[in-house]
Amino acid sequence: MARHRAKAKAQLVDVLARVDLDRKKAVAAVVAAGALAGAGFTQAMATVTPVDRIVPVAATKDLAAAMTGQQQPAGPQTIHSVDTTGEMRKLLQAEQIQAQFHVREALKSAEGAYVKRQEAIKAEQARIKAEEEAKRPKCVRPAQGSFTSGFGARWGTSHNGVDIANAIGTPIVSVMDGTVIEAGPASGFGLWVRVQHEDGTITVYGHMNTIDVPQGAKVKAGQQIATIGNRGQSTGPHLHFEVWVDGGQKVNPVGWLAARGVQL
Ligand SMILES: [Zn+2]
Repeated sequence: MARHRAKAKAQLVDVLARVDLDRKKAVAAVVAAGALAGAGFTQAMATVTPVDRIVPVAATKDLAAAMTGQQQPAGPQTIHSVDTTGEMRKLLQAEQIQAQFHVREALKSAEGAYVKRQEAIKAEQARIKAEEEAKRPKCVRPAQGSFTSGFGARWGTSHNGVDIANAIGTPIVSVMDGTVIEAGPASGFGLWVRVQHEDGTITVYGHMNTIDVPQGAKVKAGQQIATIGNRGQSTGPHLHFEVWVDGGQKVNPVGWLAARGVQL
């Protein structure tokens, strides 16, 4: 907006400079007209009253005759009058109207160009956003690392998820867009985060060292939500990852992720 105003102001200054020049020309024209009309003009200019001045041309003719030594031709004398103050006022008014028109046109043009530019910028931003949105992966790996334990029976119990081992502090991300429905301590998990996705599926992340999102937060696929840790019932730094469908049924994350184009 500041640049637009500066440009409009520069245009205005330019227009005014031109008007000033025109005004000088107009004044010069009036002065010339006055000189032709007779000596009365000088007096009119000197006193500058709104009263119309009447300058008898006869006086000028007499003066011209006296200077050239010629006699005036015989016959009736005609009296012409030139309203110099009025003429000047009219010229200045006409000029002022024209100047105002130019200023309005300049401002309108600057405003139009500004609006057009803003619309083009907005359209381009929307296009880029849509393109990025289309390119953005819908589903990603929850963490980088080694797949150390699968889903199912393990050590006489049931392992309800998969384990991905990596160093403490390794980022853990939400596998899809969703909402953090729980973030905090949980029995066996040490800490956990549960994210609910648009289709109702809940993904569960456990044993983390830090939690980086509050409960209620909206998260995107690939957005960091925590870091790998060794809390709870854990035999070394790793992510324990579960997928709950249909209101709580725990399914094998390997198949669930593979169906969404992600290999563990
Ligand atoms: Zn596990």
